[in-house]
Amino acid sequence: MRVAIVTDIHANRQALEAVLAAIDESECESTWCLGDVVGYGADPDACAELIREHAGICLAGNHDLAVTGAMSAEDFSEIARLAAEWTASVISAQTREFLESLAPSDESQPVSLYHASARDPVWEYVLSPLQADLSFEVAPARISVVGHTHVALAFHRFDGEVATGETRHADDELDLSDGHWLLNPGSVGQPRDGDPRAAWLELDTEAWTARWRRTEYDIEGAAWAIRAARLPEPLAERLSFGQ
Ligand code: ZN
Repeated sequence: MRVAIVTDIHANRQALEAVLAAIDESECESTWCLGDVVGYGADPDACAELIREHAGICLAGNHDLAVTGAMSAEDFSEIARLAAEWTASVISAQTREFLESLAPSDESQPVSLYHASARDPVWEYVLSPLQADLSFEVAPARISVVGHTHVALAFHRFDGEVATGETRHADDELDLSDGHWLLNPGSVGQPRDGDPRAAWLELDTEAWTARWRRTEYDIEGAAWAIRAARLPEPLAERLSFGQ
């Protein structure tokens, strides 16, 4: 099966609409979302509705859990906490119910899915080969896909070797048929790897290939919506830098 994997939407409707249109034109048969549908951006209800409509699987991210109150926003940065409070105050009952129905991991698929990592599905930022290695020990599937860091990357470990990894760029393709892999599509709504375009991943669970995708979207529109909602200004500014 060819699956489109999206994550860290962060209430960026312009980015999500552009990615869903690109997925429509791809050969992907279904879409999975690894969480953080809301938080930071200005359109939580629209994004929750689009994900409910289009994603066959959706996980909960730390921002989703903070918005519903399932998790405290105490450990969040000041800006993230303000955005979570704003989001909680504006979302519809339907969006809240949807967010409350989500869990941060799904180990029932041919690949293990986590918002953050196998060791800590909600919080761990997997950015080093050591962390990937520890995640490989815990995940039931040979291949895991995670979000949370907003950085497109892949870690791998072949039998008898140490884990290594690197960031991934638009149209990078990998053969996953050997070894352990941990993949991160990068973020749809708030990329932090220097490429401001919306990031997502095409995964083929039969041919075992992955392809990283980037999609242009209306960054100005998303930034304008953040300013109009009177959310903290850095949330609007960072979109055009992809940081
Ligand atoms: Zn996130």
